[in-house]
Amino acid sequence: MLEGTNIPATTVLILGAGPAGLVLANLLCETGIECIVLERRSREHVEQRARAGFLTPDSVAVLREHGLAEGLNATGKTHSLCEFRSAAGRFELNYDLLGDGGVHTVYPQQALVTDLIAELLRRGGTIHFETTVEALGDPRGDRPWVLARDGAGRELRYTAHYLAGCDGARGVARGTVPSVRAAREHDITWLALLAQAPPTTHTVIYGVHPDGFAGQMPRSPDITRYYLQCDPGVSPDDWSESRIWRELGRRLDAERYGPLSQGPIIERSLVRLRSEILDPIQHGRLCRST
Ligand SMILES: Cc1cc2nc3c(=O)[nH]c(=O)nc-3n(C[C@H](O)[C@H](O)[C@H](O)COP(=O)(O)OP(=O)(O)OC[C@H]3O[C@@H](n4cnc5c(N)ncnc54)[C@H](O)[C@@H]3O)c2cc1C
Repeated sequence: MLEGTNIPATTVLILGAGPAGLVLANLLCETGIECIVLERRSREHVEQRARAGFLTPDSVAVLREHGLAEGLNATGKTHSLCEFRSAAGRFELNYDLLGDGGVHTVYPQQALVTDLIAELLRRGGTIHFETTVEALGDPRGDRPWVLARDGAGRELRYTAHYLAGCDGARGVARGTVPSVRAAREHDITWLALLAQAPPTTHTVIYGVHPDGFAGQMPRSPDITRYYLQCDPGVSPDDWSESRIWRELGRRLDAERYGPLSQGPIIERSLVRLRSEILDPIQHGRLCRST
């Protein structure tokens, strides 16, 4: 017998309030299907967590079709021009001209998450923030369950007709029913940086340099993401701001193509590049997004 406070059963229990969980919750609410989202972080944390910035056309189409695109329609910018820089020179690719309608929309992930939370609450949806899922069970039975702990340390027991595992690559859903069919470590690590500075150009820049990759990706008029390939063992704090700007300038050849628009580095983390294909993504009444 499992311990914990029993929460009244719901139709769909969604693990994780990232873009996947929040879009799903909004679509379910739109069609009148009851759901609860469980998120281990606070609302403030997920609304400020800067990650992606580029939305593919099919994602934008889904958001527009379901009334979830007000913010990105207002301030998102379309993007289709990439610049490659190397010792051989500078080359621009307008991928819109390739003819498959592949234009991206630049809109920060944290802005989208903020919009999706507001819209979900407006539609009458429920999100339990600061509620960490610790275990789930019986995905192949009639009434799968989730054990979670709230911010005050209380154990909560949820049941639902369906579970949606949208809790990311290191989430409980993935750990409970692992199903990686193919995975590849690329042995490449990037220092991921956010600078409080306007983009140097309104295009993505890829720097191909013998000392490693460097990249610039616009996020908003005053925030820019940069990447620097680095040794896997480094700590992000090993890189001082002056070293970061010196290295970005060198690998993006600022001497030849003009200085980078600089500003304080407001966030830094390490990203280890990895590819994987998951199969299957459904296990009875548990469906996973990652
Ligand atoms: C630096 C960086 C840059 C990126 N740039 C891009 C880009 O330009 N374009 C792009 O398409 N993608 C990009 N990505 C990837 C993109 O951010 C992810 O694909 C996206 O966040 C995945 O969304 P998701 O909802 O599946 O998972 P997540 O956003 O990871 O959401 C999972 C949620 O589950 C919660 N959670 C986890 N465990 C538990 C638990 N036990 N209990 C309760 N809640 C839990 C987490 O707190 C989180 O809120 C980038 C990622 C990073 C890190």
